[in-house]
Amino acid sequence: MPKELRAVHSEELRQFLSQVGLLSEIERGNVVCTQCGQPVTLECFRAIEKRSGKIHVYCSRHACRVDPVPVKLPEDESDD
Ligand SMILES: [Zn+2]
Repeated sequence: MPKELRAVHSEELRQFLSQVGLLSEIERGNVVCTQCGQPVTLECFRAIEKRSGKIHVYCSRHACRVDPVPVKLPEDESDD
């Protein structure tokens, strides 16, 4: 399995996420990307941002790598 390259990074990431209290939440799939709404896993974790006391997590999927600005999806028309 191609794990070697990821090992160190992954370990640091786990420690970091553990410190901010997100590791177990991510492992359970309870954390979604602020931008695309997809579950963020350790594999696709990209960035974390704290804004107005709220934590925003971004994934590294293609659509979210371009520009970390929330976009309105065509399907998302429930309110507003
Ligand atoms: Zn995303």
